[in-house]
Amino acid sequence: MLNNKTNISPSPKKFKVEDVDLTPNFTGLSQLATISINQVINISIKVSKVEEPTQVLAKTKTLTKQDCIVNDATGATRIVLWEANVNKLEVGSSYRIMDVRVKEYSRQKYISLTPESIIEAISDIGEVQTAPTLLNVDEISPNIIEGEIVSLNYTEYYLCPICNTKMVQVSSLISQCDKCQSKSRLSLNKKYRIAKVQIKQDSNTIISVTLFNNTLQELVDLNMTKESIEETLLMRTDPIKVTVNSNNIFVAVDN
Ligand SMILES: [Zn+2]
Repeated sequence: MLNNKTNISPSPKKFKVEDVDLTPNFTGLSQLATISINQVINISIKVSKVEEPTQVLAKTKTLTKQDCIVNDATGATRIVLWEANVNKLEVGSSYRIMDVRVKEYSRQKYISLTPESIIEAISDIGEVQTAPTLLNVDEISPNIIEGEIVSLNYTEYYLCPICNTKMVQVSSLISQCDKCQSKSRLSLNKKYRIAKVQIKQDSNTIISVTLFNNTLQELVDLNMTKESIEETLLMRTDPIKVTVNSNNIFVAVDN
């Protein structure tokens, strides 16, 4: 019991308060190819396709699953919803989905929800990456494209560490998020690159394909300036041979 004579002295114990990072870490969809299977990540996406739910037979019971396609500023992926999460995503809406698991099927990474996953509707995340559709790769067999690069649309940008939206460079050192307006030091953010390349396969077939950092670095030195990267790709006279996935995104470069 405390009374007037009780002498309260400061505790000699020191409690160390760890720096807690309250900002969730979001993974850009273009990074999926480099993430190991079963790793748990957070994503911030917009839904572009929702398929009808289907029943699948698991070990002891039937489960309901639903395939969807989701996009962010860096890429697109298939995502599988299970049971209670079926019908939770709407086409055109944006969501933050925490604790999803990276999976792989037929050399393609995709995302599966787990019972721990949390879906949260958020305001529109803005412009997202969609696959170019000059000629669908499904019409080409196999998905290997060989030819000369005839034209190019190359962009570089930074992503907001808070909301995963494209940032605009506002000075030589600082970039600002289009959406949440927060500013960051450029070096803190990862630079994303998208090259949409048209490859002339023969006299009447031009195929538009997309490269992100992981495959682009096999063709050019990413430390070069934007102009030098464009020049290197456009002045290349040798044909390039690449493997693409069903979204016309480069998955391998065969030099
Ligand atoms: Zn932001």
